[in-house]
Amino acid sequence: LGRGDAAEDDAGGSTAAHFVFVPLREQGHLIPAVDTALLLATHGAVCTIVGPPSTAALVRPAVDSARRSGLHVRLAEFPLDYAAAGLPEGADDAADSVPAMHMWSFFRAMALLRAPIESYLRAHAPFPTCVVSDFVNPWTTELAANLGVPRLSFFSMCTFGLLCQHNLERFGAWDGVEDPNQPVVVPGLERRFVVTRAQAPGFFRGIPIPCWEEFADYVERARAEADGVIVNTFEEMEPEFVAGYAAARKMKVWTVGPVSTYHQSSPTPAASALASRGLRAPAIDPDECLRWLDGKPAGSVVYVSFGSISQAGAKQVVELGLGLEASGHPFIWVVRNADEYDAAARGFLGELEARVAGRGLLVRGWAPQLLILSHAAVGGFVTHCGWNSTLEAVAAGLPVVTWPHFTDQFLNEKMAVEVLGIGVRVGVTEPLTYQAVPKEIVVGRGVVEAAVRSVMGGGEEAEERRRRARALAAKARAAAQPGGSSHANLLDLVKRFRPGAAPGAAPGAAVSGV
Ligand code: UDP
Repeated sequence: LGRGDAAEDDAGGSTAAHFVFVPLREQGHLIPAVDTALLLATHGAVCTIVGPPSTAALVRPAVDSARRSGLHVRLAEFPLDYAAAGLPEGADDAADSVPAMHMWSFFRAMALLRAPIESYLRAHAPFPTCVVSDFVNPWTTELAANLGVPRLSFFSMCTFGLLCQHNLERFGAWDGVEDPNQPVVVPGLERRFVVTRAQAPGFFRGIPIPCWEEFADYVERARAEADGVIVNTFEEMEPEFVAGYAAARKMKVWTVGPVSTYHQSSPTPAASALASRGLRAPAIDPDECLRWLDGKPAGSVVYVSFGSISQAGAKQVVELGLGLEASGHPFIWVVRNADEYDAAARGFLGELEARVAGRGLLVRGWAPQLLILSHAAVGGFVTHCGWNSTLEAVAAGLPVVTWPHFTDQFLNEKMAVEVLGIGVRVGVTEPLTYQAVPKEIVVGRGVVEAAVRSVMGGGEEAEERRRRARALAAKARAAAQPGGSSHANLLDLVKRFRPGAAPGAAPGAAVSGV
């Protein structure tokens, strides 16, 4: 088993809340879950993060560093039973995420960890007081029930998106809608938001393979039966949706975001701390990145990244590169898996890099995103609208060009553009993959150029967008500080899930009436 077991750890004694985090290894799930565990630990909780070797390898440096600074965080690693789950040997070693075709077996392999995790938790004091589970680990229902402790679902999503998805399902909005691109109004909301089924199918819904529909139902049951929800968002950004989601689910919602603030808790956070936050070694030296940014005027640089899973196809890479070049703005462009492109696309990237030397910086691989977004030279973000990236833009006070690819990203785009008023759409209306069928969608260079100019340029509309983004960042900071809503929610979690805490939150009882 991994490090951090009780023998080497006084673990804060037996009076502290002990949260067991069961995250998913994908970066968009794992990074915010680890941040949340670290935040709870800074408020006195004990946190144990459990997972397979891939998760442990990513998390270990962050946990070691937190432990060195005195936090009661530990990590327990459990090997996957590949054969029993029907998962090809070594599938968990894949660099970024488990290949889509093995995802189903991977979830089964994760579910098989329940018994060893349970034995470990029973054998290593202090006894858990709460399980915090990524919502795609529905088997944690049994884990928490066997341990006799409450279970909270963890989401790094906005409650706007959660509520839209919930209402679309609850009110049967897709019943009788044949065309996946037919717009419908999201039911049950005061304001009018229009989506298509392709944009918001619901997690694991609509994949034409029987086991996925069953899995989607299992996930939904586990969500409905949870004792509460922890969400990486903050109340002041979307109060009506936080309240609406809590009411719709009839459960307490603890908003604790933006959780990236864990790394920005001092007024001048070290570059190394910000750079290490992504849990992977950056493909660029953070100091070199800072020097490059230091040489650019405030607000002049546009940052371009599609997160940890999406990847632009070869044609799209060319159009995007030419669009950025034509925009005239300095840019940092994160190109994932650049070595996987064909010779023509690789050649294009090399030539572009030479043409824009000094003005454009290509990061081939993992970028220190938080470090970059925190720099004053950055003035806008072309994002795929992963929720973490969207919220990191909010926390940094940046307007965004929205370019959703799939899953919840279209709802996050709506959040940025229609709810918050900080985004300009690049204009993509269909996902790159729907019902497991990929679709080639290429946004032309002219469209990219126009969207970047619109977000980065002058004019009243752009200024207004920037003002709104700055105001939101101020609210995000306030939420995370003592006296702020997210800070208060973290304290509440630590208090409410102490051993023997108030009725309704004690181990063994469901949290009710909260
Ligand atoms: N990230 C990073 N460097 C990269 C790409 C991503 O640090 O080169 C981080 C980013 O800051 C965010 C997370 O990885 O916290 C990606 O999550 P998001 O929800 O934005 O997108 P996903 O990867 O899940 O599509």
